[in-house]
Amino acid sequence: MKAKTQKQKPGNLVKRERGRVLIVTDEPDSVDSGPLTSVGLEIVGVCRGSAALVSLHRSRPHVVIASSATKGMSTAELARTLSQTEDGIPLVLVGAKASTLNRRQTALSVGAFDYIQLPAEIDLLVLRVRQIIALRQTMDRLRSEADLDHLTGLANRRRFRVALDREVERWRRYGVPCALLQLDIDHMKEVNDRFGHPVGDAVIRHVANTLSAVSRGNDTAARLGGEEFALLLANLGEEKATAAAERLRVLLAEQSISGVGNISVSIGVAACPAHATSERALYAASDWALYVAKNEGRNRIAVAPLMQEKLPGV
Ligand code: GH3
Ligand code: MG
Ligand code: MG
Repeated sequence: MKAKTQKQKPGNLVKRERGRVLIVTDEPDSVDSGPLTSVGLEIVGVCRGSAALVSLHRSRPHVVIASSATKGMSTAELARTLSQTEDGIPLVLVGAKASTLNRRQTALSVGAFDYIQLPAEIDLLVLRVRQIIALRQTMDRLRSEADLDHLTGLANRRRFRVALDREVERWRRYGVPCALLQLDIDHMKEVNDRFGHPVGDAVIRHVANTLSAVSRGNDTAARLGGEEFALLLANLGEEKATAAAERLRVLLAEQSISGVGNISVSIGVAACPAHATSERALYAASDWALYVAKNEGRNRIAVAPLMQEKLPGV
């Protein structure tokens, strides 16, 4: 673990990016990208129909503009493929033929957002593409915020679950270890009782900030609920994770919080594969270790038993 300067906050996690456009056409001259770039859009690629799939994965556009006369892949096929991508990338069809009601209806019926005649209706294309991109960016931001805990800006339980699955899968596929620390603030109820709930919230945010500060890029710091947190450490085995947990405990115990003084946390440590080899078992093992740390007196870490020494009830 090493210091990271910025804490993630809801709202600034997805920075406003330039809109990315992929153009699919057999005749690159048929789509004049000038008007698109002049309004700040980025053309991430111009490719033929047959290369559309590869370009899509590489360039991750917000929107695809495809000529209705591309070889190698019909527009209906392209529309279907795009709608099946993880994010359902929107498609706008363009062509030299007039944008009759019939053509627009056909475009919409195969899943495209519109059919626009070029070059006559280039201004309309620019407006339509900008509108779709603004919508996509709002969706991206909302999706990202829905995964964050509102009080602290850390990952919420849902995002944590996804990260846990990803890390354990990385161990299964590539043998990369990971470790899970579960933290619980000691005597949080007393903090609330003595100083009031808003100060209690500030203590929770303080712990969250410290978790963010010690996380590396691929780690996930999460608030699981109440005054309970998780720190998922990517690519870290049992020994280093235990040392990291102890450093974190000491760091939190030594910091004085203004208006409150010192607080402490208890931490349960479990690593994959030393203590568990599935998502559920890793979670249960660190949960069990946290329970042990609490029972043994708080302000301490406890490490899960090794795989051979089975946990009760797991
Ligand atoms: P222990 O050392 O056993 O963990 O004691 P504790 O008092 O921290 O544990 P307990 O589970 O009895 O109580 C948790 C407390 O955390 C009670 C609850 O009011 C407080 N809490 C949970 N969520 C929040 C929150 O969002 N804000 C504040 N201020 N307090 C919270
Ligand atoms: Mg608790
Ligand atoms: Mg507690």
